[in-house]
Amino acid sequence: MSVNAFCKSENEENYIILSIGLLYEFLNAAKNFVSNKDLNVVFKLGEDNKPTYLRLLYYYMLISIIGHELGHIGHGHLRIDTCKNSTNEYNSSNNMHDPERNRLIQLEEFDADWFGVRINYSSIFYKADVTNSHELFVKTDLLFLSTYLSFQVLSNKGNRDFSAYFNNDIFYYDHPHPGIRMWYSAIFISSWLADYPNGIELINNGIHAIVAYDKQVLHKENPTNSFYNVGITERGALHIQELVNGWNASRELYQPYSYCDIPDLGTLDRPFYFLTSNGEQIPGRLFINLLGVGDKFSF
Ligand SMILES: [Zn+2]
Repeated sequence: MSVNAFCKSENEENYIILSIGLLYEFLNAAKNFVSNKDLNVVFKLGEDNKPTYLRLLYYYMLISIIGHELGHIGHGHLRIDTCKNSTNEYNSSNNMHDPERNRLIQLEEFDADWFGVRINYSSIFYKADVTNSHELFVKTDLLFLSTYLSFQVLSNKGNRDFSAYFNNDIFYYDHPHPGIRMWYSAIFISSWLADYPNGIELINNGIHAIVAYDKQVLHKENPTNSFYNVGITERGALHIQELVNGWNASRELYQPYSYCDIPDLGTLDRPFYFLTSNGEQIPGRLFINLLGVGDKFSF
């Protein structure tokens, strides 16, 4: 079954298309999560609650991909005369190695990811009781995990070959590596959670949910097997910095074509990472203990 998502514009009518294969893979990823025999090593999820949690994960994974496509439409990516009037999320395009074109597409993906994760966050935290810590922790897990599982499916089922990511130019590909996307999404989420009274705890909890799931439930002892780890290397951080600053410099060009205000996401003066490209830890950074990456890390 074809796994893909698109948005398309025809005569000012906009469409979002999700393939049956994508729905199947999203549901499968959520099912694999709740039914993993080692899930209780990290998460307290009773048998009675698993069907409900499965539905919630699947629902918010769908919100995140629909929100992403809505971002392409809402921010005018299909109307500005850059290169296309449709997107193709899971398959690379024909002229993949045109760096200038790829740069534009990657910037649009970055912006659409921001839009999608923002909609997902707003849906999950809608009318959240900020005095109820338990509720906030549950919602944080749901937000991080639905984001993680969506990019995990993209990493496993997309046809772009990122195996030589570290040897190629940042704009060699027509979409950013799923690990880069996972990590800048985590940064967005963290910036919103930081406004809650227990924001740092929530952020640590959300990051921990992902890392502990990979290490203790999926038994990925070697961090190179975790798709998102490229995002926390020096190279990944430089890539993220290019996207943040590149989009910030470009967004005014898109504003006349957008259906809504495009927010200023600011600039990144300093790349934000925990590992060198050689896999050595950068000491003293937030999350480093939670990430739990050992000395043996190498790509
Ligand atoms: Zn996209």
